[in-house]
Amino acid sequence: MKPILYIVIPCYNEEEVLPITKDLFLNKLKELISKEKISDSSRVMFVNDGSKDSTWEIIKKLALEDEHFIGITQSRNRGHQNAVLAGLMEAKDKCDITISIDCDGQDDINAMNEMVDEYLEGSEIVYGVRSKRDTDTFFKRATAEGFYKVLNIMGAEVVFNHADYRLVSSRVLNEFANFKEVNLFLRGMFPLVGFKSTSVYYERNERIAGESHYPLKKMLALAFDGITSLSIKPIRMITSFGFIVALVSFIFIIVSIIQKFVGTTVTGWTSTIAVICFVSGVQLICMGVLGEYIGKIYMEVKHRPRYIISERTEDLKEKDK
Ligand code: UDP
Ligand code: MG
Repeated sequence: MKPILYIVIPCYNEEEVLPITKDLFLNKLKELISKEKISDSSRVMFVNDGSKDSTWEIIKKLALEDEHFIGITQSRNRGHQNAVLAGLMEAKDKCDITISIDCDGQDDINAMNEMVDEYLEGSEIVYGVRSKRDTDTFFKRATAEGFYKVLNIMGAEVVFNHADYRLVSSRVLNEFANFKEVNLFLRGMFPLVGFKSTSVYYERNERIAGESHYPLKKMLALAFDGITSLSIKPIRMITSFGFIVALVSFIFIIVSIIQKFVGTTVTGWTSTIAVICFVSGVQLICMGVLGEYIGKIYMEVKHRPRYIISERTEDLKEKDK
């Protein structure tokens, strides 16, 4: 039996982009079907992430145009990671493999052929990895590189230059469903599931239309979330740092005492201020990092749902019948 593939595509305010990229996805799906790699029951599934423009209306229209298009919508905007998760969890019982991809045409759709081949040869997870980032600005490339480096130093297993373009089998998704955290960083979580995995390489293109929803602020938030949801090393580093500061202060106290006896106590104003400023700065940073973890614990213990699906094109079609 040929595997059923669901291509899962998160969309947030993409009314300019969807009408252009929809054919890319459908043509690729049909190509794979005609090459007899996947079953005809395969689908292109759009996940509307509570868009404020007409994205959901466009998706509903597409679902009427071609049965290979389906869509679900979240009750409100919850962010890219949660939208992908909603799509994957919705798809996992209906298909054998999923491929998640952004809807803006930046990730090369042709890499899907190789992804499916890798799956047919036994891989359960296939990571799409950007081989070149020429189309990104120098700033985005530099920050992204720094980000992956920091993640690896912190002990999180993340495939370098892999974003959220990946093939995952439903077998892996069934295990993944047991990862209950609310703070999502999918590219760091999938390696934790295990199973046989490989990477395929592709070149990243320009966004076809519209604008990136990841300005610097959101990128930093994702980076911070990535590090603190996957690693407790920053907390350990605080402890080590605390010891170093304590040691330096101790030496300083000894020096001050010696100075007192030698008779040069009036000098030292500058160094006193310097030490006070330094130590309070360190303390504030440490408190910030601790606060970040406590905030995460707070979010996790609430066990709030990570996505809420309010409508499905499949149900709407049923109603029309
Ligand atoms: N996206 C989403 N919810 C959000 C923000 C973005 O579902 O709150 C989707 C968006 O429609 C796109 C993908 O996530 O398909 C990646 O977003 P974008 O292209 O803006 O990010 P970039 O490629 O610049 O990192
Ligand atoms: Mg993009």
